[in-house]
Amino acid sequence: MLQHTAAEAVELDAALLRRRLIGWYRNHARELPWRGVSDPYRTWVSEVMLQQTRVAAVIDHYEDFLRRFPTVLALALAPEADVLASWSGLGYYRRARMLHKAAQFVTSELGGVLPKTSVELRTLPGIGEYTSAAIASIAFGESVAVVDGNVERVLLRLTGRPELSTAAGRAFVQGQADALVPKRRMKDNLNAAGDHNQAMMELGATICLPRAPLCLDCPLHAMCRTRGEHVTPVRAAQRSRPASYLLSLRKRGTLTEVLMKLRPAESSLMPGMYELPPLPEDAVQGREPVLRLRHAITNTNYYVQVYASRGTQDRGLRRAVPAAKADLDWILTKRLNALPLTGLARKILQRLDVMRVQLPVLPAEPTTRGRSV
Ligand code: SF4
Repeated sequence: MLQHTAAEAVELDAALLRRRLIGWYRNHARELPWRGVSDPYRTWVSEVMLQQTRVAAVIDHYEDFLRRFPTVLALALAPEADVLASWSGLGYYRRARMLHKAAQFVTSELGGVLPKTSVELRTLPGIGEYTSAAIASIAFGESVAVVDGNVERVLLRLTGRPELSTAAGRAFVQGQADALVPKRRMKDNLNAAGDHNQAMMELGATICLPRAPLCLDCPLHAMCRTRGEHVTPVRAAQRSRPASYLLSLRKRGTLTEVLMKLRPAESSLMPGMYELPPLPEDAVQGREPVLRLRHAITNTNYYVQVYASRGTQDRGLRRAVPAAKADLDWILTKRLNALPLTGLARKILQRLDVMRVQLPVLPAEPTTRGRSV
């Protein structure tokens, strides 16, 4: 395997790489709803959503979010609960809170106009080095390199440099990225830096894949030092955890209500979000769930089981919920869409047809087995 030591200088032909990369990008880039937009606010929203989140999940939320909050002002004026509700399913809710705070700052202090440089953008809540470089280059054409996980992988493989999570390793990657990003606009490309950055990220996301790179389809194959002979970092072992939740429904006239739990404001994880009331494992022994599903969060696989309690027939499960009464709310099912729900709660309520449905019918106990997913 070809690998270079940290001290070895690795030089890439920047002009050749840029030409090949951009030629490939123009013909092969995926059509994504945030590509080719001219509104910096839209670029900003997409870049925040894309942090640590799959493109497919962002596609599902991006247009809806912008329909609800079409401008910085609309976002700034919205209650936080509405912003969190629109973010539901994307995870990492701190991003939504920071985006909301930043919109309020831009509106009240900057006359509603987003700063144009990466340095200024970095002063806004929730905008770090990566996001500021992405917005500044894509929306405003600043010649600044974007380094995300995809770009880092491409550069390490191209140069044959081993992955090092040290300051020197990071500086090496940043130095390579800085050297490659176009310094000025080109005749046929008004946003050379923005397109170059997007092309690097696209190459990492679609060709230079983490486990099995498609080197034969790679436009940089001829200049790559490793061509697939790379070290694949060992992934952290996945943990498994059981988790049980209560589904309790009641009728109110012709409408239906579902019992939900509000996560405390001081909680370090998803504060102010609604979830189904959790149940201790010993309370569900011998019971049959109405739904089983797997829910993955970072390195943990949650094996989730949902148990139904039906009004007065089964108060035992309700009493087993460890939450304080004040944290439990009966919510009309027709209101669920507008509520800040955790991603897992949304998934469960959708799978059980509780959302958007006025009178859900649950399978009868004990003969019907729960849906196994
Ligand atoms: S040739 Fe293979 S390893 Fe090298 S950059 Fe292209 S896809 Fe990645």
